[in-house]
Amino acid sequence: MDSPKKDDVVTMVDVLNDEKELDEATSAVLSGSDEKICTYSSGYIKRQALYSCLTCCPEAKDDQEKAIGLCLGCSLDCHDHHQLVELYTKRSFRCDCGLKYNSVACRLDTSKKKILETSASSSTANVNELNKYNQNFSGTYCTCHRPYPDEEDTVDDEMIQCIVCEDWYHTRHLNTKVPDSTTYTEMICESCVTKNDFLLDYIGLAVEVVDLSQSAADTTLNVTQTNDSIIEESSPKRIKLSDDACTRPNNPLNDNVAKALFFKDAWRKSLCQCEKCMKLYEEQKVQYLIDEEDTVVFYEEKGKNKPKTSSYDASLAALSSLDRVNQIDAITSYNRMKDKLFEFLQTFVVNNQIVTEEDVKRFFRTMKEGTDNQNVHQPHFCR
Ligand SMILES: [Zn+2]
Ligand SMILES: [Zn+2]
Ligand SMILES: [Zn+2]
Ligand SMILES: [Zn+2]
Ligand SMILES: [Zn+2]
Ligand SMILES: [Zn+2]
Repeated sequence: MDSPKKDDVVTMVDVLNDEKELDEATSAVLSGSDEKICTYSSGYIKRQALYSCLTCCPEAKDDQEKAIGLCLGCSLDCHDHHQLVELYTKRSFRCDCGLKYNSVACRLDTSKKKILETSASSSTANVNELNKYNQNFSGTYCTCHRPYPDEEDTVDDEMIQCIVCEDWYHTRHLNTKVPDSTTYTEMICESCVTKNDFLLDYIGLAVEVVDLSQSAADTTLNVTQTNDSIIEESSPKRIKLSDDACTRPNNPLNDNVAKALFFKDAWRKSLCQCEKCMKLYEEQKVQYLIDEEDTVVFYEEKGKNKPKTSSYDASLAALSSLDRVNQIDAITSYNRMKDKLFEFLQTFVVNNQIVTEEDVKRFFRTMKEGTDNQNVHQPHFCR
């Protein structure tokens, strides 16, 4: 028989699926790996799961600009066994695998070799120049710049991703009261609201924490829900700078103090799209705010609704529906399993044996039982 290669390992996926012995998430990630796709050729993808590799780019630990971002396929294949930072999803990114700094060559997209050869520049730092790298690529998050998960953090807290800078924040470091997570779908951090202060004009759309101790007469705190009437009421008071039909409201609270804002699903539809406002979004580089396809909600729905033409799509959808901790667990389990299976198959090569379905099933039974004993590594029928 041929020597088992890592490639052979993934052909065992069907056997694994038959076993139905793994939890669904791990199985979904594993089943996707038989399609070896790097997303590079699709260009800057509106939203995709990304990973940063600190084995290929150790400098990235201290300098986010020296980081590379990898698509899911490359993270599992080309950078197998590497120290990866899981970045959840990011917008407008093109896979850097094999193209920058000391990245290993990309095994999934060999056309990249040509790009490197024809690249006149000796430096590859300019490849994928529209990619943006934040501190998450170095493995740190939030205003506290801590890793995730953070072993030294004893506080039970969640992290929320800002839809503008796409960094993640501990709720306790958002500097404001955080509404119940069921009441909003998007958050913009204080720093991004400061930089894009036009967002304060839309504060009427924001979900506020209702402070019941306040008197009912204090109407400013009654802005508890998405409330179109607030915008309509305030519109007539607006001083029109031009005669086009700008629907950007005045800040109904007359409060220009920036703070993190929480918005409900579809709030972006209320953002004015007049010529002036569009120009503003462009200047501030936030045009994606008016693109429905930019939202994580859209990305996740797309994953759920798309006919599962490939197991790769299916695994992406499954992966995107998991929370961060489960995503990492699923990928870690997958990598551990793949190593063990490779090791197991290697013993058949050494002994010049043929692998039967029963052998593979036995392997998975042993994995399931967690009995990592000698039998896993040794075929029973050694001659
Ligand atoms: Zn890739
Ligand atoms: Zn790597
Ligand atoms: Zn690759
Ligand atoms: Zn923090
Ligand atoms: Zn932000
Ligand atoms: Zn406008």
